[in-house]
Amino acid sequence: MAIVISGRELAAKKREYMKNEVVKLENKYGRKPHLAVILVGEDPGSVSYVKGKEKACMEIGIVNTTITKPVTITQEELLQIIQQLNSDPFVDGILVQLPLPKHINPTYVINSIRPDKDVDGFHPNNVASLYLKQPGIIPCTPKGILEVLDSANIEIEGKRACIIGRSNIVGLPVSKLLLDKNATISIAHSRTKNLAEVTREADILIAAVGKPLFVKKDMIKEGAVVIDVGVNRNPLTNKLCGDVDFDNVLDKVSYITKVPGGIGPMTITCLMENTIECFLKHMEDKND
Ligand code: NAP
Repeated sequence: MAIVISGRELAAKKREYMKNEVVKLENKYGRKPHLAVILVGEDPGSVSYVKGKEKACMEIGIVNTTITKPVTITQEELLQIIQQLNSDPFVDGILVQLPLPKHINPTYVINSIRPDKDVDGFHPNNVASLYLKQPGIIPCTPKGILEVLDSANIEIEGKRACIIGRSNIVGLPVSKLLLDKNATISIAHSRTKNLAEVTREADILIAAVGKPLFVKKDMIKEGAVVIDVGVNRNPLTNKLCGDVDFDNVLDKVSYITKVPGGIGPMTITCLMENTIECFLKHMEDKND
């Protein structure tokens, strides 16, 4: 019988813990961690993600400022806002909701965030830290995936892990984290030949493709652990669904996550964790 790992339940437990921690931090340091979020435009997906982040901050007691700007904002104006937040000693984390409008270069924007406030872990310094195994900020979705595996006591060392997807925000960093846990990794992508042959080798299969119900039974090894990162709309029902055809694969897997209620809630929870980590670092640096 497959076990469905609930990211939602794990996230709720972690948020309860963080809520208590934030009370202690405020008593100790005289203020709470503070996350600033910049939202450009009114893309419904982005608006909904930002709302989720605001709700999580409120639940945990993290101070949240959301700066909303019209889609016509210039890159220069956006960079100026980031500079102000960078130099504000009461802001611990800065997040620019992606995607940005076409006239703004996301690389410039991400690179302009102070690395020690880069709660998404996308700044090149944090990316380098991950690859060099140095302390830094780990991107939220990959961090959440590892925590989900850990919560179910899934052994990683010596296992074959396959990640479908090689994006900078999910596929590549989660591959590195699994490699660091001594898994043997294969990374599949749109040019991979005989994909099912590759994925069937995997004891742990991570789907980060962005294609609804893409992963079917014939792509899975009997007893595999399957983590579904995808957030898509089912073209038939228009309901939220993952990259994995959950019903189709269920009797073949040992553990699986569901969409919604799987990696999504853990991503936001890890964002909160990263904000607290940045806060602690700022407090320590102040006392040095
Ligand atoms: P992305 O940047 O679009 O990357 C998708 C990856 O899938 C690419 O590496 C692409 O290969 C690969 N791919 C596309 N078609 C393929 C095919 N037919 N066979 C094998 N590989 C294929 O997407 P992303 O940002 O990593 O996100 C992936 C999914 O996760 C999306 O649904 C996104 O919404 C979701 N997501 C969820 C969360 C969460 O919190 N739950 C967070 C982030 C992302 P190429 O590199 O060759 O193009």
